[in-house]
Amino acid sequence: MPFNRFLDTVLDGGEPACEPGLKEAMLYSLSDGGKRVRPLIFFALSRHLGHTPERYYHVAAALEMTHTYSLIHDDLPAMDNDSLRRGRPTSHIQFSESTAILAGDALLTHAFYLLSVADFGDPVVNIRLVQLLSSASGAGGMVAGQYLDMQSPHLFPSRELLENIHRKKTGCLILCAFQMALTVCNASKELWLKWTEFGKKLGIFFQLRDDLMDVRADVKALGKQPGGDDKDNKLTYPALIGLEASDSLLDELYKSLMASLHQEAAPVPVFEEILESLYRSCTATQMKLTKRAVEKIFNRFAQYNPHPQTELKYDSPFQLLIAVILSAQCTDAAVNKATPALFAEAPTAKDMVQLGVPRIRELIATIGLNNAKSRHIHACSQILQETYSGQLPQTRAELENLPGVGKKTAGVVMNVVYGSETLPVDTHVFRVSNRLGLVSTKTPEATEDHLIKVIPRPRLRYAHHWLILHGRYICKARKPLCGACFLADICPSAVKE
Ligand code: SF4
Repeated sequence: MPFNRFLDTVLDGGEPACEPGLKEAMLYSLSDGGKRVRPLIFFALSRHLGHTPERYYHVAAALEMTHTYSLIHDDLPAMDNDSLRRGRPTSHIQFSESTAILAGDALLTHAFYLLSVADFGDPVVNIRLVQLLSSASGAGGMVAGQYLDMQSPHLFPSRELLENIHRKKTGCLILCAFQMALTVCNASKELWLKWTEFGKKLGIFFQLRDDLMDVRADVKALGKQPGGDDKDNKLTYPALIGLEASDSLLDELYKSLMASLHQEAAPVPVFEEILESLYRSCTATQMKLTKRAVEKIFNRFAQYNPHPQTELKYDSPFQLLIAVILSAQCTDAAVNKATPALFAEAPTAKDMVQLGVPRIRELIATIGLNNAKSRHIHACSQILQETYSGQLPQTRAELENLPGVGKKTAGVVMNVVYGSETLPVDTHVFRVSNRLGLVSTKTPEATEDHLIKVIPRPRLRYAHHWLILHGRYICKARKPLCGACFLADICPSAVKE
């Protein structure tokens, strides 16, 4: 069962049953589309240490409930007095102040109930988890941080006080996610020290990023009214050391955390994704791309590579279509290794039909998903031969109707063969266009329409290739080569070397 579904049902079946009105308020905040960062950390580290995280849903739910309770109480009029959270009315606005207080209380209590009933085969683990969560969230941890945060306008501002507030208010529960994973996995002392150190640093990174977002982001990006810290005269990094120094510190922490992850023998992609997405969304607020900046980006692309080409090898539109079908979830280099033999035996749709599925499968055996791809290629060739006399249809809709041809494949063919202004989005295009601030999208599917609106019309023809090639060779997923990037002076996500 996915974790989110588990959370939706986590209040069911208890004895005595949850009061329905209270349950509604608890679930309203618990299921509000949060990023579930603490559970993600807990799951990722457990998995990295060789365990099956699904066994520990109770622990992750306890973390999320504790975090949710703290947000409900933080938003209350007596605290930060926020009326929006993640773009929705906060609990006390949606229900009432008393209901919000009680929903928070009940979430916190239920978190400890979950830890007490989870079955780890050794009750000492339950006790240890209760200890960890209570000290991370209690009067020496998160609540202490919230208390100091409220007091901060009346205290002497210092770096020491700021770090103490951040460590307790945000850092403790983040660190707790790491330490709970280390506990259930019965990790060695060495692992405990290493990941505790990482968790502490990540906690600071988190709060620093929040401070910067509160200054710079808009309501849409923040999900609540920005500027709250300044209005309440809170002690934050931007207030104490200034925006520029805060940006530099964020860069420094980001690089140091990424460097620690890259030292791991096995990658921990979830941590990299969390770090990258938090960092990029924050740095993207530093500079909003103007129309002029977008033009500059594409002028540079044109200057460096005036006529970009696909790297797939082919001798006819038919062969290009087959190569693009083969490239789904596979690199162009791998496709180029397999296609010479395939196209030597079957250069046309008619030849491909005669070749038959088993032989096609043999010839593309080095390519992933070769079973499905060989069937699709054969069926697709048959339709091309019977309906289009072995040629390709000329519209995207007709291409998309062919077996094995989706929106992306059809878009590539329309672009390369017919010079259409399509912008099929693969993982490179998605990543690079978001990093460059051309779009701010959550999925590749949502990206093409946005890109077509922002990219200057005369540049649309080649934009797909420019973005792919840039992502493949410079703006790489794990380590973008910002120091060698000809867009670094414009790009809002550039990591300063
Ligand atoms: S500066 Fe270049 S390499 Fe770095 S994130 Fe921006 S586009 Fe990617």
